[in-house]
Amino acid sequence: MSLSVVVKRGSVKVALMRALVKYEKGVGRMEIREVPIPTITGGEVLVEVDSCGICGTDLKIYDDHFPSTPPVIIGHEFSGLIREVGAGVRGWTEGDRVVSEQHFSHCGACEYCLTGRRQFCAAKRSPGYYSNGAFAEFISVETSLLHRVPDQVPLDQAALVEPMAIAANAILGKAEVNTGDYVVILGTGPIALLALQMTRAAGAARLVTTGLNADEKGRFAAATMFGADLTVNAQRQDPVEAVMSDTNGKGADLVIDLSGAAPAILGGLRMLKKDGRFCAIGLPHGEISIPWADTVLGAQTIYFSYSSDYLAWERCLGMLADGRVRTDGFTDHCYPLNRWKEAFELARSGEALKVIIDPKGSGGA
Ligand SMILES: [Zn+2]
Ligand SMILES: [Zn+2]
Repeated sequence: MSLSVVVKRGSVKVALMRALVKYEKGVGRMEIREVPIPTITGGEVLVEVDSCGICGTDLKIYDDHFPSTPPVIIGHEFSGLIREVGAGVRGWTEGDRVVSEQHFSHCGACEYCLTGRRQFCAAKRSPGYYSNGAFAEFISVETSLLHRVPDQVPLDQAALVEPMAIAANAILGKAEVNTGDYVVILGTGPIALLALQMTRAAGAARLVTTGLNADEKGRFAAATMFGADLTVNAQRQDPVEAVMSDTNGKGADLVIDLSGAAPAILGGLRMLKKDGRFCAIGLPHGEISIPWADTVLGAQTIYFSYSSDYLAWERCLGMLADGRVRTDGFTDHCYPLNRWKEAFELARSGEALKVIIDPKGSGGA
């Protein structure tokens, strides 16, 4: 294990690591600090972080628009190598390549924990905002949260599994894709581009993506490369009309919202066929009024989904391993921890599909 620094605290030696810490509430209030390497207890492993993706949530934490409990290490979309194994741990050894679910501190005894839905446990403290995260050299993880990364999946790609699993949980686990489905995905963000591919892999026959003028610069081309049959710029063409015309007036079997935008969501409900399914993943601000009677008369089903479960993670790792989901362009922008500000700026610009921080790195992007 390559420890950054070892200092003496009284007579006890404490190993330190570098980490990006949100040190108090307020806009910004983040800096690289040297903090103690986490100690592990029984049932836990110490993971050396290989890659940690920057998420929209991290930018919101920076802006103080997302709850967090400072001082806390930011970052939650991570992959890494096990460097130390706690007492009583079975099945995991030093050097194993892993990713981890987010349900840190779950109680293990409530209805949700006992039925494999730990994301709803009241005791859960997700890393990166409620407990220490992975924009750091090391993180301690309880082994029931770990998933093994297949040999053929590079660790920087594996860091995409957390956001990808949110889509898999909703689309494959709840709404489900039927063979031959006509599917519309609202949004062209990184999760939408991954969702597009898993939807195709699950049997969708025709795939439509909707976006805005800004997506003409590159996101629509990426959507086409990842399998979209049709892209619709909602600022130039009404997506409802586009879908109705493309389906000879029938409408879509399944609409998946990853835009979190009220106009897109309302349009998405209108472009559904009778008995169609709507899969809600994006998080809009405030309330949205929906035409309730139309939804009842159309017998439409809306699936709401939150976070991800064990199976979603395994499915994603499998789809990355056999190439059903590709990540071309997702791992091109990798920054060392000390250049986190540049990395955050690039993530905010929307010009990169994904920006990754490599806490071990010391070179350029
Ligand atoms: Zn995230
Ligand atoms: Zn629980």
